[in-house]
Amino acid sequence: MSSFSLCVYCGARPGTQPAYMATATELGTAIAAAGMRLVYGAGDVGLMGAVARAAQAGGGATFGVIPTHLMQIEVGKADLSTFVVTETMHERKKVMFMNADAVVVLPGGAGSLDEFFEALTWRQLGLHEKPIYLLNVDGYWDPLRALIDHIVAQGFADATLLDFMESVPDVDTLMARLG
Ligand code: AMP
Repeated sequence: MSSFSLCVYCGARPGTQPAYMATATELGTAIAAAGMRLVYGAGDVGLMGAVARAAQAGGGATFGVIPTHLMQIEVGKADLSTFVVTETMHERKKVMFMNADAVVVLPGGAGSLDEFFEALTWRQLGLHEKPIYLLNVDGYWDPLRALIDHIVAQGFADATLLDFMESVPDVDTLMARLG
């Protein structure tokens, strides 16, 4: 039996604030300490690398999925417990998601947003019931929340869309919600 798997979507860059990398490291450590398995994009760059290295250092299980064409760019981390190489980005997202019990989004860019919105829209359509958390490090995701509030206010989504995502301020709060 595999343990609870937490899928982490996050930036392939470190970002400008030290808190971003620090929180990624803190999350990796917490995942291992909780006996959970990390599912992520198998890169060794930016926040992705930080969360994976910390989970490994804590003795946690790691499951990474990377497409062939990003092996060099994102420095494919082949020493993970499970290392899956896919042909396409779509396969990567699918394999990550189907191996996860819950999703958390750390600060990141367009890639993290793509992954977040895919999980959110699938949830909106009733295709899954996996919880989706935004780890709102130093308010990083406040503009995203404002955009989604705007979308609801302008009549392009039901207010229930907000029920499918939860913002948490820090790693301790996230782990308490998952526990
Ligand atoms: P970013 O948040 O832009 O730093 O990207 C975070 C991660 O998402 C990186 O590993 C990207 O390669 C990945 N990514 C970006 N777009 C996609 C996509 N369409 N499908 C799967 N992964 C993606």
